Amino acid sequence: MKTGVRSQNPEFRRKEKRVAALSFWLLTPALPLLTSSPLRSHNSLTMTTAIVHHPIFKEHETGWNHPERPERYTVLMDALSKDPELWPNVLELQAGAAARGLVQACHTPQHYKMVERAVSEGLGFLDADTVVSMRSMDAALYSAGGVCRAVDAVMTGEAANAFLPVRPPGHHATAERAMGFCLFNNVAIGARYAQTKYPEIERVAIIDWDVHHGNGTQGIFYDDPTVFYFSMHQYPWYPGTGARGENGTGRGRGYTLNVPVRAGVRAQEQRRMFDTAIEEISSNFKPDLVFISAGFDAHVSDPLGQLLLTDEDFTEMTRTLKDWAASVCNGRIVSALEGGYNLETLGGTVRSHVRELMKAYCSHSEEFKRCFIVRAR
Ligand SMILES: [Zn+2]
Repeated sequence: MKTGVRSQNPEFRRKEKRVAALSFWLLTPALPLLTSSPLRSHNSLTMTTAIVHHPIFKEHETGWNHPERPERYTVLMDALSKDPELWPNVLELQAGAAARGLVQACHTPQHYKMVERAVSEGLGFLDADTVVSMRSMDAALYSAGGVCRAVDAVMTGEAANAFLPVRPPGHHATAERAMGFCLFNNVAIGARYAQTKYPEIERVAIIDWDVHHGNGTQGIFYDDPTVFYFSMHQYPWYPGTGARGENGTGRGRGYTLNVPVRAGVRAQEQRRMFDTAIEEISSNFKPDLVFISAGFDAHVSDPLGQLLLTDEDFTEMTRTLKDWAASVCNGRIVSALEGGYNLETLGGTVRSHVRELMKAYCSHSEEFKRCFIVRAR
């Protein structure tokens, strides 16, 4: 049956060839913030989605031909900032560095020191895939700090939701180690920050649609019933975790949901699996804030995955989460970039995702909907 799916699907066969060529990557075994000022002023009626970023995200150098490269940030920002309907209507915010205490709410002091030392000593590889260079520590701290800044934005009403084009990504980083391109777990740090700083945030949902299982995030919250971690990912695939039976431990049992997806599954079928999972989660868990570990390497064109999702599928999944968040937590969503490595398509996919996030506010307010549509023309 598996062979049948592969042989019947020409797109899958093309991807299989590309992946074979690139399998070196990701197939190996695997406070207060410093700054928080808006980069420019905004109209509160229309700028409901914040884009939290910093130029340091393109200074995390990973070496020649590494897929997690600085150009990912550049193509993303180009796609967003050159969209005349999108860019004038978002709230642009500058990320600040996360304080050490915020990072260590999710990581051991030894891990923090190890990354710091590796960067200061100019050590190249933290594992077979994970490279650091001179500015990597700053980029990692600003990525984690950016997610915390986005939490502030949605909690204070500056924005309804937020997207962050962060580098390095975070979901493979465990409490103790860097791996899979990830140094610190940006979304996990943001989740803990939200629960610590805002008394009204008791429960958090993390939805991870990256093609790879977020083993780091799962591990950090595995025994925690206040953070629901849901991952839909290609399986088996890097990093090898994320089987259906991994569902939490102790008091956290039942608060981790893994939906493994076979390579080459039709996008429509994968979307159905996603919708079913969100329905299942929402019947038992009411989050006060929703995070998206937004990896776009499950896209049909991505060189590091073998799934077949299109821009439209990511838009639909965004809409599903937007509707869920609107019904349980005033639409509060913080979406942070994880994977996504096709520089030709990544910008367009993220633009679709952000455009849907911008409509999040509109979907439950006719007044805002009219404002958005009028302003967008
Ligand atoms: Zn990934």
